[in-house]
Amino acid sequence: MKLHEYQSKQLFAEYGIPIPRGRVALTANEAKTIAEELGGRVVLKAQVLVGGRGKAGGIRLVDTPEEAEDVATQLLAMEIKGLPVRKVLVDEAAEIDSEIYFGITNDRTSRCPVMIASTEGGVDIEEVAKTHPERILRVWIDPLLGLKEFQSRYLAAASELPREHWRSFTKIAQGLYEVYMAKDATLAEINPLVITGDRRLIALDGKMVLDDNGLFRHPELAEVRDIDEEDEIERDARKYGLSYVKLDGSIGCMVNGAGLAMATMDVIHLFGGGAANFLDIGGGASAEKVSAAIQIILRDPNVKAVLLNIFGGITRGDEVARGVLSAWKEVPSETPIVVRLVGTNEEEGNKLLSDADIITATSLADAAQKAIAAAGEAR
Ligand code: GDP
Ligand code: MN
Repeated sequence: MKLHEYQSKQLFAEYGIPIPRGRVALTANEAKTIAEELGGRVVLKAQVLVGGRGKAGGIRLVDTPEEAEDVATQLLAMEIKGLPVRKVLVDEAAEIDSEIYFGITNDRTSRCPVMIASTEGGVDIEEVAKTHPERILRVWIDPLLGLKEFQSRYLAAASELPREHWRSFTKIAQGLYEVYMAKDATLAEINPLVITGDRRLIALDGKMVLDDNGLFRHPELAEVRDIDEEDEIERDARKYGLSYVKLDGSIGCMVNGAGLAMATMDVIHLFGGGAANFLDIGGGASAEKVSAAIQIILRDPNVKAVLLNIFGGITRGDEVARGVLSAWKEVPSETPIVVRLVGTNEEEGNKLLSDADIITATSLADAAQKAIAAAGEAR
């Protein structure tokens, strides 16, 4: 789950990281009021859950409350990368002396958090990683020891931060590490962390991504999930307890079990096709869940064929077949569907399917090739 900038910065502040004064506005009028309260120059920032808002025109500096109202009206009518702007953060404007990148995420290879700093702040860090990998500095944090001061000092020194800011930087690093751990985050990022004209170090931007699996420990955060901003299909999948990840191939996959789903994608790839999604319906799926899963797959316009790969154990083949047939009744579709069903009640299941003119397959290789052929014809 992604948090908005204003939500992330609020959490940062709770952990002792300095942020600009400001508040979020839902209307242009509110933006004007906040600008009046803050006084002077303010920055208006579109709150959408994508990066690169600055480049897209979503970050605007203004000098007066009237101007703030005008610009907020414009921002609230905007879409950034397809996402409607519904909130605008009004912050006191900072005079920027220099910008650095500062963040923490999990390093899966090292199996521990990694803290990252770079002199190239304010810009797309993925781009820096590609073009100037030497400008990205990392320290790995032993979760049993926590972040050590020498590590923060190393990052401060290596990112060429003047010495007068080191104490403040160390405090920010500690805060960032603590908020990251406390909220079960997978990313906490300050880009940019700036040195202001009046020589303060503040977090100008903030981004946090929380681990969905840890959300039950943070009901107050789960509650602020901005469902308007999420992929509609992924949201519906979550509602039915399905693990769904959209990909960019043309073969919609429905599989029971994450390992089997990975294997299915591999085999599709092996025969020259591409999976349109990862979808694990889990064990013991009911006809209702199968039907919901198929309907979710078919909502992706890239899907030219559907491949069902079911290994019946607790999941019963006939139950899956009934789900497929009922989905077909609810949303009749021209999209060809290939089913490979083995295990518990496979005879009953396969009979129900072939009676309904659904392509069945005996092996995974057979199923993948039939699905690829069907997708090719559909195109
Ligand atoms: P992002 O583009 O979505 O990452 O949004 P940011 O909050 O990082 O803002 C992008 C850029 O806008 C920053 O790197 C700054 O250069 C600029 N910016 C943001 N806030 C201020 C501000 O208060 N004053 C000034 N002068 N520039 C700002
Ligand atoms: Mn940024």
